[in-house]
Order: sequence, then C-alpha cells, then structure tokens
Amino acid sequence: MVARRAREAEISGIRKMFEAAPPNAVNLGLGEPDFDPPAEVVDAMVRAVRNGMNHYGPSAGLLALREKVAERYRDRLPSTAAENVIITGSGSEALMATALAIYDPGDEVLVPNPGFVLYGPHARLAGANPVPYALTEERKHLPDLDDLEARTTRRTRAIVVNSPSNPTGAVFPARLVDRIVEFAEAHHLTIVSDEVYEEIVYDGPATSFWGKSDHVIIANSFSKTLAMTGWRIGFLVAPRRLAIELNKMHYHIMACPPTPAQAAVLAGLASDGSALRAMVAEFRARRDLAMKLLRSTPGLEVVRPAGAFYMFPKFAWRRSATDVARALLARGVITTPGDAFGTLGAAHLRLSFAASRAHLRTGLGLLTDYAEEASAS
Ligand code: PLP
Repeated sequence: MVARRAREAEISGIRKMFEAAPPNAVNLGLGEPDFDPPAEVVDAMVRAVRNGMNHYGPSAGLLALREKVAERYRDRLPSTAAENVIITGSGSEALMATALAIYDPGDEVLVPNPGFVLYGPHARLAGANPVPYALTEERKHLPDLDDLEARTTRRTRAIVVNSPSNPTGAVFPARLVDRIVEFAEAHHLTIVSDEVYEEIVYDGPATSFWGKSDHVIIANSFSKTLAMTGWRIGFLVAPRRLAIELNKMHYHIMACPPTPAQAAVLAGLASDGSALRAMVAEFRARRDLAMKLLRSTPGLEVVRPAGAFYMFPKFAWRRSATDVARALLARGVITTPGDAFGTLGAAHLRLSFAASRAHLRTGLGLLTDYAEEASAS
C-alpha cells in the first residue's frame, strides 16, 4: 500500500496533451526556451566533466557560485552574502525545499490561480492547504489586495508570488510589489517569490522581492536564462536564519546540486550576457508578432504579456479548455489547456512563443481558423 500523499498526488495534465500530438504538429506548448545554452556554457560543461568534476560537492553549492549569485543580488540588498544563497537542483527543487522548510501541517498558503503547476501540490506534500487567489483579465492578471485580504485567515502562513508569471506573462509593477510586502508584513506571512523569469522581460525590468522584507524567500533558476532546463540547476536566496533550514531540506532531497552544471553556470555568469539579450530580443519580436496575429481572432481576449514567453488568452466559446486544446491538436497545433494552471484557467489556453516565428504564424493561423468556426457556431 502506498502513502496517501502519493495516491493523491497528480501529475500535471500538460504532458498528457503532448503525448497525443500528431508527428508534425506545431508546438506552442513549450515551457522552455527553444534555444541551446550559450556556447561558452556548453564548453565549460564539457570541460568540467572531462576534468573530473563528476563527484559530490558541498550541499549548498560551490562557494564560488554562491558568491557570484550573492554579488548579483547586492544591488537589491547590499548585505547579501554567500550564506544567503543555496544552489539547488532546479527551481522546482528550490520550491519543494521551501515548502518543506516553512509550511506546517494545517497551514494555509496563498497561491496564484492561474499559477505554475507546482505551488499547490508542494503545499499539500508538506501537509498544508493551498488557498488560490485570483488573477483575472480585468486586473491584467495581477493580484488584487482586497482579494488577498479576503482569503487570509489566522492559519495563513505564506504567499507565493510569481512575476513574471507562468502562465500569464504578467509582470508586477514596482508599486504592487511594495503593497504585497505591506500586506504580507501586516499578516506575518512569508513571501515565497518565484523569479525564474526575472530576466525574460520586454517592457522594462521586473521588480524583485529581495531586500523588500526580512521574510522573503526567492526561488530562482538557470533553466530559462541560460536555456539549460535539462541540466537541473537553480538557487534560493533567503535570510540566513531561513537559509540554514532550507539547506537542511535541500540536503535531504538531493544531497548536493550537480557539480559540472555549477561550473557551466559560473562560465555563463562570467560571460557578457549577449546570448541572453539576443534570446530576449527574439522572444520580444515573437510576442509582438503573436499579438498582431491574434488581434483580429474572434472570441479571444488577450492581455499583452510583459515577461516570460507565454500568452494566456481567454476564449468566449462554450467549451472546456481541454476540448479546445484537443480540437486544436487535431488540426496540428499543440497548446496547453488553461485549467492545468487552476480553476480560473478554465476558458483559457496557454500559448508559448518559445517557438519559431514560422511556427507561430502557422500555429496561430490554425487557431484563428478554429476561432472563426467556433465563434460562428
Ligand atoms: N517556476 C516557474 C514559474 C516555472 O515556469 C518553472 C518551469 O517551467 C519553474 C519554476 C521550474 O523551473 P526549473 O525546475 O526548470 O528550474
């Protein structure tokens, strides 16, 4: 007999959709950059493996990498040091270690709806109850402080925020970040800020929560910025007292992060950042192209994404998101049904522009054909 937590845990519906795809389908479902890591990063990885960096390393990560990450966070909080940084085996693991370190059974955790697929399940695995807060078109997919207040009880322990957001692409204005910090402090909540897309922004920088309060944990990743999702490497930044606890959970999950990938990331952080700039410029051009292509699509309401590489249109047809995604799949385009990200994702699709411009044109053309038929029927 297996444990209840395993019986009740669900695997994200996203993968199921991909498995049913016809062979030549255009993929607008990707949750990762359609780029390779920068050449110097690949070279550093190969060198690290050839030079014997194939063994366990320190649990919190190589000191040189922790120092480098801390240095990058010093403009947000000048006292940030290596002790505040834990290198993890991905952003996903960083989020799991956070859930284990700070949620007690019976706690409530505010999570975005729609939001990234791991926040709710991680809270449950730690015995806590996720309480979804609403992100809607009317508010450009940004949290509403009154809604947060209404969902907060004396059991609320933490709020998870994600800007830039998966699946909506929304980026919090600086003023909203300050208001969320005030709200969290008033209720003694820890802020868990998932900033994995912080460098993938199109209309100005994203505001980090680091340095805004003593009760903030930043989960971040090199997956997207260095296009190395398969190398599984990320990090946490936290006040020292929390970093010690986070590191304990991280140790019990995976002992230490992958050693050669850390050497590769160090090379990436030492580079001039031109690969990231080029990737973001291409994503921006695709975002603009996609917005243009969808402008006259009937039955769709699209909020212009300011970050990440997703759009989250709402459709007006009386069909489930899965039915629409299935119908699109049959026409040869993979999309992600919005309800994979929470109840308020019903009547939405997530479209990823981590796809070539040619694929965007073809895929959004097929979507528009479908939209015309669905809107007419
Ligand atoms: N957070 C968000 C919002 C994401 O979209 C993802 C990946 O899609 C992650 C965290 C986890 O990324 P990784 O585990 O590859 O670092």
